[in-house]
Amino acid sequence: MTAPKRNIKSLALEELKTLLAELGCKPFRAGQLFAWIYSRGAQSFDEMTNIAKAERTLLASRFDLASLSLRRQELSSDGTRKFLFELEDGHTVESVLIPEEDRQTLCISSQVGCAQACRFCITGGGGFQRNLKAYEIADQVVIVEKFLAGGKKYSPETRSITNIVLMGMGEPLANFDEVVKALAIITGEPGLGFSTRRVTLSTAGLVPEIEKLGRSGVKVNLAVSLNATTDEVRDRIMPVNKRYPIKALLAACRHYPLEPRRRITFEYVMLHGVNDSTEDALRLTKLLRGIKAKINLIPYNPSPGSEFKRPPDAAVKRFQHILQEHDYTALVRESRGRDISAACGQLREREAKAEK
Ligand code: SAH
Repeated sequence: MTAPKRNIKSLALEELKTLLAELGCKPFRAGQLFAWIYSRGAQSFDEMTNIAKAERTLLASRFDLASLSLRRQELSSDGTRKFLFELEDGHTVESVLIPEEDRQTLCISSQVGCAQACRFCITGGGGFQRNLKAYEIADQVVIVEKFLAGGKKYSPETRSITNIVLMGMGEPLANFDEVVKALAIITGEPGLGFSTRRVTLSTAGLVPEIEKLGRSGVKVNLAVSLNATTDEVRDRIMPVNKRYPIKALLAACRHYPLEPRRRITFEYVMLHGVNDSTEDALRLTKLLRGIKAKINLIPYNPSPGSEFKRPPDAAVKRFQHILQEHDYTALVRESRGRDISAACGQLREREAKAEK
């Protein structure tokens, strides 16, 4: 009986080195394979032409390269592109590519669904299905990059994607080990080789995991979805706050080991009449005191039948102005790709409806 093949992509570089040594392969082979898989997006051992045919056959008898597959992509009128992936078990996840003047950011998913149940987020409304594997997270980047290269070879030098944000479906810190493994692939050499300055992990505020991330030595940027300035409001819109209230969350942020010249990004979804008052803005300036912070204000992106409203532009401006007067960097980040359901909080909504 032959042993079942292992998915080579489920292995971290060190694990792969050990397994390859047992097969009698050369020590540098693991790095070479990583480069083929992640830097060049190889989908079969046959493409790996600098490895002898006999060894390729041996590898193909022990390992496979299965992954997610691109099922569909859609282009929004504002240039945002949404990618729908199908996983081996039939689940689907999405990534969104957001072109800006000086960068192209890919927003990737870390879970199928999400257990956090934030009241304003469609993914949260659909419940949690499963965690993504590290390779399912990293391959969203590889496959989109291959799509953008249009059949041409790509390399880290000719790459189109400049920034990665873990802000798609799911709560990355609830899938800690696989996310950390994926970040090692995304920022590693061999691997995708992104600078840690260009990769951001966004969390709803899982305090023990924020502390664990700080201790882990992973150096990507941290973003925290704060979204409220009182526990009363945050309890209501983000159930995670009942476990980790604002004070505990901000204490973890205050102690988070930041690299020089880095700051924590605080995301603040603005919900009209809920968290967009002058008092909220003033409370926010006090809460963040002593934290190296910048603030991204995201006017709520409504979906049909939702209970919340987007604040008038004047309220958003006023809120931003108060933060700036207190010397905070505060940007207004508009949700993009609304016409293709690619905007914040919208992922997978249409697909799920269509399948019903
Ligand atoms: N679970 C992680 C990452 C996914 S959500 C987190 O909570 O940070 C990414 C961001 O989108 C979060 O800041 C979230 O608050 C925001 N968001 C979710 N739904 C939204 C909506 N309908 N409008 C605007 N922003 C939304």
